[in-house]
Amino acid sequence: MTRVLIIGLGVAGLATLAQLLESKTRSITVDACEVKDEPWTFISCGELVPDPSFLSRYVPKHVKEVLEVSHKFITENTKIVNRFSRIVLRILDREYEFRFGAYLIDKSRLIRNVYERFSAYLNRRIKTPVMHLLHNCEKGTTRVCFHSPSEPTGEYDYIVAADGFESSVYMYEHRKFLIRRDYLHLNCAAFRARIRDLHRDTIYIIVDPSLAPGGYAWIFPRGDDEANCGLGVHPRYGLSLPLQVENLLKKYNVGPRRNVVGKVLPLDGTVKPYTFFHGKLMYVGDAGGFVIPTSGAGINTAIYTGLKAAEAVLEGSSFSSKVKLLADYIDKLAEFRKPIDPLLTREDALRSVMRRVSGRLIALLAYYLMLGSSKPLHRLMFMIAGKVARVREEPEPEADLQ
Ligand SMILES: Cc1cc2nc3c(=O)[nH]c(=O)nc-3n(C[C@H](O)[C@H](O)[C@H](O)COP(=O)(O)OP(=O)(O)OC[C@H]3O[C@@H](n4cnc5c(N)ncnc54)[C@H](O)[C@@H]3O)c2cc1C
Repeated sequence: MTRVLIIGLGVAGLATLAQLLESKTRSITVDACEVKDEPWTFISCGELVPDPSFLSRYVPKHVKEVLEVSHKFITENTKIVNRFSRIVLRILDREYEFRFGAYLIDKSRLIRNVYERFSAYLNRRIKTPVMHLLHNCEKGTTRVCFHSPSEPTGEYDYIVAADGFESSVYMYEHRKFLIRRDYLHLNCAAFRARIRDLHRDTIYIIVDPSLAPGGYAWIFPRGDDEANCGLGVHPRYGLSLPLQVENLLKKYNVGPRRNVVGKVLPLDGTVKPYTFFHGKLMYVGDAGGFVIPTSGAGINTAIYTGLKAAEAVLEGSSFSSKVKLLADYIDKLAEFRKPIDPLLTREDALRSVMRRVSGRLIALLAYYLMLGSSKPLHRLMFMIAGKVARVREEPEPEADLQ
């Protein structure tokens, strides 16, 4: 009997659960450990998912597969709430419009539906976090202790760490925090708000260092008079998230807010390595850093890596080789994202580049970054922009007083 423990039941963990249990393989038992009573509560997310038929033109073939596989999982398990055909990029006080195919989902509904379909087949549901992992190299199994003394210790053949970011499994495993001083991540706040003058088929992204230093704010209309809104702020520059939420509401004429939830978004690339114990411990979704660093999108990648972890268990094959191309793509985008940071954190630098290089060009660059484009011309643009941003980061020369 193969024993599997899934730690965390967000979209990533539930994708693993669904795939393992759907296979109806009798020789597999699945335990799940989840800290929330109901995994679909307190969801903090923009809930925006790109339309694969639109985005596929810009991304490599293997990322197209990620989009298609996760799109199938989403549409099989929940309804689409709203569809978008355009994106408006507001950079400081200017607006630029582009085509963008995407849709909005109800993520908590997706999680609830998958959980309700499969939870009855779980061997054990543990409602307390993991406390300790001890790998037995000879047997190839891992002994796991849980925080509550009432939960008996378990012995597992595979562990799927799907406990989001920053993964506590990672901390137990390495005895250190993943976030170092230079680790690129955003502190985010997400909430629902009423909208007035915005188009319902349009995504709004706001790049404004005074509002969301180091990140951006978003407004994703839900198709009625509400929108999913939020902002992500670099921790080094973040003032107070509640204050910045109020600024967003005032500046963009968005109505009273509800359900403000905070969460950290990893943008530094994948956790290396993302498998341990010869592939017996796998990090999926946010726990493995599988988030597109240039847009903050992680729903597709969480579902995909969750499904691939299940496939690796069922086939007894390697998880690393299944997600390697995706990981390489994410890590490459992280390299492009980092040098551009000074433009997102300093209004003077952004204004100066927009004046010198043209606002439209900067907007186009931001657009291609949002798409995660891998077209050679766009990559060249990212590299040049990175250099320009770096130059601006250097201290200004002293004024000549003569
Ligand atoms: C504000 C915000 C907005 C976003 N907007 C978008 C968007 O519009 N589109 C998009 O594609 N992506 C978006 N993302 C990213 C996306 O939400 C995540 O990448 C994705 O949900 C990750 O799923 P996950 O299952 O890996 O992790 P999570 O959703 O974080 O799930 C982890 C689960 O593990 C459980 N858990 C945590 N610790 C433990 C523990 N010790 N033991 C057991 N269980 C534990 C938690 O309760 C949780 O249920 C956004 C992220 C943020 C923060």
